[in-house]
Amino acid sequence: SFTNDVCPQAPEDPLFGLMAAYRRDTDPKKIDLGIGAYRDDNAKPWVLPVVKQADKLLHNDPELNHEYLPIAGLPDFTSASQKLILGKKSPAIQEKRAVAVQTISGTGAVHLGALFLARFYNPSNSDAKAVYVSTPTWANHNQIFGNVKLPVKGYPYFSKQTKGLDFDGMIGAIEGAPEGSIILLHACAHNPTGVDPTQEQWKKIAEVMKAKHHFPFFDTAYQGFASGSLEKDGWAINYFVEQGFELLIAQSYAKNFGLYGERAGCFHFITSPGSHAAETVSRVGSQLAILQRSEISNPPAYGARIASLVLNDDKLFAQWEEDLRTMSGRIIEMRKVLRSKLEELGTPGTWNHITDQIGMFSFTGLNPDQVNKLREKFHIYMTQNGRISMAGLNTKNIDYFAKSVDSVVK
Ligand code: PMP
Repeated sequence: SFTNDVCPQAPEDPLFGLMAAYRRDTDPKKIDLGIGAYRDDNAKPWVLPVVKQADKLLHNDPELNHEYLPIAGLPDFTSASQKLILGKKSPAIQEKRAVAVQTISGTGAVHLGALFLARFYNPSNSDAKAVYVSTPTWANHNQIFGNVKLPVKGYPYFSKQTKGLDFDGMIGAIEGAPEGSIILLHACAHNPTGVDPTQEQWKKIAEVMKAKHHFPFFDTAYQGFASGSLEKDGWAINYFVEQGFELLIAQSYAKNFGLYGERAGCFHFITSPGSHAAETVSRVGSQLAILQRSEISNPPAYGARIASLVLNDDKLFAQWEEDLRTMSGRIIEMRKVLRSKLEELGTPGTWNHITDQIGMFSFTGLNPDQVNKLREKFHIYMTQNGRISMAGLNTKNIDYFAKSVDSVVK
């Protein structure tokens, strides 16, 4: 039976443990910087105005029912998702080099990609059948690839000295990986560090990956949420597609639509230009459908319907872009305020990384001891690695936060 030897007590998920501790804390000054979800200036969840509009349209639709979606998901949703990532006039779409499957948000898309690679990726050198992820990366990457028994290896990413990208370390490791390795890349707003390569650096990464025949797997969970521009945040993926790579993309609508619990996401396979492209896409699509059927049968409808209404309507789309600018703008503003407050206080160290980093998260450089002090003395909750969710800061608590950081660093 399930004795301790075969099924030992597992550790609590660190992030969910943190959330529980925050909830138990009764101090009115408490701040939650653990959560990876957007909060408004009152520290409250924010339903995007465009999502409210789409929701009304859905409810007024007399044809709406609760039938199953197709195995590959809502066609209007998956085709709009392709266009969002690749561009409306994308040659990859026109040449039928792309196939998309609706998934259980970004997690489900990473999982479907992992399952697909475990089953079908067949590099000539069997040592290359491993996934390289950034150190650090979103913790779930390790678990998801582990579940399908794909070996996970790391490439350096974060420089503790500069609190920016360790570009030489990253390139060196990608260059040193066995030819044909799978390289997982965060498209923008890297989680947990908030550090992204520049466009020049992306070009070099692509060049090295091409020379080594590596296989890119992009995880994009923050398109439009990072810079406020969908194009800018999608630049790296499009550059790789233009360079003719065959690649995978896991796309999440959790953050950029605020549809966290509705689990709207999409998985994409794009093949290189060539006479066999359409046939390859057809074969891959048929296998993805079988994997999907055995895992979830049919994806959930509500979130995909909301996103689809917005993505396929010019007016709603424009409203969505405005909502994205509201969220990303507030976060960028909080970065500026936090940096200037710490600099004004003369808090030891440099704080330019707070504004150099982008997206939901910032790697502050605070050590575990300082993180614990912030929690115990000041009721401020963040993960042990010093990551803060910028969305947890607002005009009411940022002064208290900056002074508390100053006090534990001095
Ligand atoms: N990848 C990364 C890097 C993420 O940060 C997230 C969100 N935490 C996801 C994927 C997927 O999240 P979800 O399943 O909620 O879409």
